[in-house]
Amino acid sequence: MLPVPDPITTDSGFEASSDASAAGSWQRELARAVRSADDLLRRLGLVLPEESLETAMVRLGISDQNAVYLRRFPVLVPENFLKRMRPGDASDPLLRQVLPLAAEAAIVDGFVSDAVGDLAARRTDGLIHKYEGRVLLIAASACAVHCRYCFRREYPYEAEPRRLDDWQPAISEIASDTSITEVIFSGGDPWMLTDQRLQALCSAIDAIPHIERIRFHTRLPIVLPSRITSDLLKLLRTLRSQAIVVVHANHANEIVDDCQVVLRELVRSGVPVLNQSVLLAGVNDSVDALEALSRRLVNIGVMPYYLHQLDQVSGTAHFEVAKSRGVELLRELASRLPGYAVPRYVQEIPGHTGKTPIDR
Ligand SMILES: *Cc1c(COP(=O)(O)O)cnc(C)c1O
Ligand code: SF4
Repeated sequence: MLPVPDPITTDSGFEASSDASAAGSWQRELARAVRSADDLLRRLGLVLPEESLETAMVRLGISDQNAVYLRRFPVLVPENFLKRMRPGDASDPLLRQVLPLAAEAAIVDGFVSDAVGDLAARRTDGLIHKYEGRVLLIAASACAVHCRYCFRREYPYEAEPRRLDDWQPAISEIASDTSITEVIFSGGDPWMLTDQRLQALCSAIDAIPHIERIRFHTRLPIVLPSRITSDLLKLLRTLRSQAIVVVHANHANEIVDDCQVVLRELVRSGVPVLNQSVLLAGVNDSVDALEALSRRLVNIGVMPYYLHQLDQVSGTAHFEVAKSRGVELLRELASRLPGYAVPRYVQEIPGHTGKTPIDR
């Protein structure tokens, strides 16, 4: 379960401190994010002139705003992401990612709350160890956007560390296990922490001699480009460990304007930048959409990394694309693009120590 982020004190990594008062422009931008389906529809001109809001919601198959799953995982869309959607188009691929449909209420066989086995792999508070040599830090519980297909939409974030002291067991655990060479900052979105708090946690990890790489899994360069501050870029450049950034975009229309600018900035600062996507019905389940996405990424130096088969999490079944279809799409994509522009089509199987490639 994701808490509704409080834009100023979203730094769930640590105790509130004085830097909340010095909220940067990205925090102010987040405070203005769209937080209801009504608002989303009105802002995009999706309520027809002769129509009531209720009629529009029913026509578009949108969930009742009192639905339990919507109270637990509310609408959240920063204006910057909203402005890349086509007004008046209910099938816009960016809108589909954030629009809460009544279909989320469906109970579908095989779709469960912890589809990826996160809880079984929890090693201490905030630390998940399921991949060989790599650990995941649940560095922050909040995100700047709520993606309706999210595999951690049911994750019990409230149990994870919030203050720097609370991170000590996780840090000691990493320090005591020399088989761990890479720490992946995950969440939520780890870049929801302020620069100051991110720096504190990174320094603690960076000081562990057997850590070779620190990786950040973040969607903020895509949905809230103003988050990429000069302090953040400096932090990445000054780590002893190799920094790696994995962003998350699903459609070419996401990679425009200031998003493109900050991705270039990240690339030019010398940090490897990779992208992961999820194969989503109604968003990117066509060769043309996947090709456009890959081309836009590689043209600014961001390498397509994974195309994930949807994890079977409750409420997301309407996004599922059959694996046989995914394999076809990838085969066609590979015939159109250089090898480096074709992401690996993979799935997460609970209990496996790495991703499993899908080839049939
Ligand atoms: C797969 C996965 C990773 C790490 O996988 P790599 O194969 O090391 O890139 C990290 N976080 C999540 C949520 C994943 O699903
Ligand atoms: S940004 Fe990532 S963690 Fe956050 S809601 Fe989207 S998919 Fe889930």
